[in-house]
Amino acid sequence: MTSMNNEQLAIYNFFRSLIKACLFLLIVNCTLINAQQRLDVIVLDAGHGGKDPGTIGDATGVQEKNIVLPITMKLGRMIEAKYPGIKIIFPRSTDEYIEVKERTRIANENRSKLFISIHANHKKKEESDKNGFEVYLLNKERFPEAVLFTMKENYLLSYQQAGKDTLDNYIFSSLAQNGYTRYNEYLASMIEMSFLSYTELATRGIIQAGNWVTLGASMPSVLVETGYLSDASDEKYLSSEKGQSDIATALFHAFQSYKALYEMQ
Ligand SMILES: [Zn+2]
Repeated sequence: MTSMNNEQLAIYNFFRSLIKACLFLLIVNCTLINAQQRLDVIVLDAGHGGKDPGTIGDATGVQEKNIVLPITMKLGRMIEAKYPGIKIIFPRSTDEYIEVKERTRIANENRSKLFISIHANHKKKEESDKNGFEVYLLNKERFPEAVLFTMKENYLLSYQQAGKDTLDNYIFSSLAQNGYTRYNEYLASMIEMSFLSYTELATRGIIQAGNWVTLGASMPSVLVETGYLSDASDEKYLSSEKGQSDIATALFHAFQSYKALYEMQ
């Protein structure tokens, strides 16, 4: 092989540097693409259904299950129209009974990135009148319980692979990596703001609940009590086409903000 002259050497070095730079950029690019989270699967959960009517309206006898289903389906259609790439799972899309555990199981099994459960509330007998919407989050103090539940239901295999000693670290870090609480809190505040902008309902605030249905969901999740069926005005609004559309619109806008934040990370 003849040795290169200076000019050839310079060209050779130039191309070598160029290839190195391209490889470097390619690796950086791949890392960035891999790091970006996609909100590609979500669960929209209409509460109750079938033999479980949920709560009953005082004035008209309207059943919660029949209010939350159209709201959930409207929300789904809005998301579908704007983001056709997102897989939307409805644990129920008709008037059927599905156990609470089954709903979160479906969410976990499909690796859903978000779980929104939609309900309507009723004051207890002894309580004075209440109205407006509430957004429920899982209480941080129940994390150990949620972790145990999650472990039993979903992570048994990972647990076996990770080994006993690292169990807590494994589960906690996977929850932390998912930004579990931060995302929950952001989503809840987006929902509250959005309800105030798009619906006629008053806010009763964001509540860290001690006991609620999405305990088993291993992804950011909220439960929305859209209003009180024991309040005549809320009942009328929630039963109306306008009220149901307003609530779906509010949830849609909150979802959009949440999606933007989630995918920015
Ligand atoms: Zn309910």
